[in-house]
Order: sequence, then structure tokens, then C-alpha cells
Amino acid sequence: MPKVEVYYRDSEPEPGISLRIRDKSASVEDLLEAWQPLCDDETLFKAFAQDNYSMCRGCTTNCCNTAYVIPDIISFKQMAYHLHLSHDEFLQSYFQKEKLAVGLPRMKPDPCIFLKDNMCTIYPLRSLICRFYVCTRLSGPVEQFIYSLTWTGITAAILYAEKNGLLQTQPAAGLSSMDILFKGLIEEYRYNPNVQLFMNAEEYSDIPLLPFIDSYTSELVDVRL
Ligand code: SF4
Ligand code: SF4
Repeated sequence: MPKVEVYYRDSEPEPGISLRIRDKSASVEDLLEAWQPLCDDETLFKAFAQDNYSMCRGCTTNCCNTAYVIPDIISFKQMAYHLHLSHDEFLQSYFQKEKLAVGLPRMKPDPCIFLKDNMCTIYPLRSLICRFYVCTRLSGPVEQFIYSLTWTGITAAILYAEKNGLLQTQPAAGLSSMDILFKGLIEEYRYNPNVQLFMNAEEYSDIPLLPFIDSYTSELVDVRL
């Protein structure tokens, strides 16, 4: 039996994509494996997909055209390694200079620098923010859970970059509303102890899921655990 199960739930009070953690040792990698079929599912309603029912692969309205992507630390390191670039070279070549200047490592957008012919050219290495985004309804606890995981991983990347002198840490002016929102989230997660789980990990399989469960998301855990 898989350690994490992802399924669609019609019933109130929390309809939408739901998931169940069935093993105490389940990791972020297990969740990603269970989640991936949603992207490939042509029977799932997707708000922006062609005819609302098609795979993300080759999507012509593609969220990657406008996405604001800040990678989590695992993806950041893996993408740089794959491109044979130092972390600094990666930041300088693939990230928006004006956002780096305000302490936000946003990958070059409009469209994303990795999007070619409507396809992601680093698909297996794409970041959590990309992997978890599917334009379909999620149940409230699932949304909260993946949001928490993603922003913890992003905050770990920011702290890593700051610690290694790769990012501007001074207060910045001229922020967009999205920049302000993201900076607020990073400050919110900066002292979250789960950031260390990402900082200490080399792969998603090194990061356990259970520490990210709180009272609101506890329904995602199999009651027998
Ligand atoms: S999540 Fe993105 S790529 Fe997938 S169907 Fe929606 S808009 Fe297209
Ligand atoms: S990294 Fe890939 S999945 Fe993410 S926005 Fe860019 S093209 Fe899309």
C-alpha cells in the first residue's frame, strides 16, 4: 500500500482533492509521487485547461506563462547542479535581477525561463510551488498542508541564500503587492522549526510529512497511526 494516497472527495464540508497519510515514515517524496497523477489526469476538472479536461503536459493556457516561482531549497540546489552552475551563477542567470535586489529569488517569468513550446524543460526537478499547483479544487486541509510545506521549503532556500551572501537582506523599497505578500510569508516561516528539516535534507525523501501536520490538517493522517 502507498504511504500517501491522493483522491477526490465530493462530500461536504471539505470537497476537493484530499489525501491520506498511511505510514508514519511518509516523506515529501511519497506525497509528490501520489500527487503527480493529478497533473496527468484528463478526467479531473481543471479551471484553466483546454476544455477543462486535459493533461497539464502541453497545456496552452499554461500557468507557467505567468507564474511567480521562488524555488524551495531542494529544487534550487538540484536545478543548479543539473545546469552545472554554482548557486550564485544560477541566481544571476536564471532569476529576475530586480527581485534579487529586494531579497526575492524569483525565476525569470512571463513566460518562465524553463518553459519551451508549452513544456517545462526541467520537469523532474521543478520546485514544490510548480509541482503542487493544479488548477482544480483542493480541500481546505490539503491546501493548508501543501501551502505550509511549500513555504517552509521556500523559506529554507531564502535563509540558505542569505547565509551564503547570495541574496540582498536590506529592507527594500518599490515592492509589488505580490512581493510584499511573499516577504510577509517568508518572515512568518523564518522561525518555523520545520525549516531545519529542509535545510538538513538532500532529497525530498529525507523530509518527513508528519511534523507538518497541525490540528486543522490532522484529518489527513490515517487514524490508525
Ligand atoms: S495547472 Fe497549469 S498547466 Fe495544468 S491545466 Fe492548469 S493552467 Fe494548465
Ligand atoms: S519551472 Fe517548469 S513547471 Fe515551474 S513555472 Fe517554470 S516551466 Fe512551469
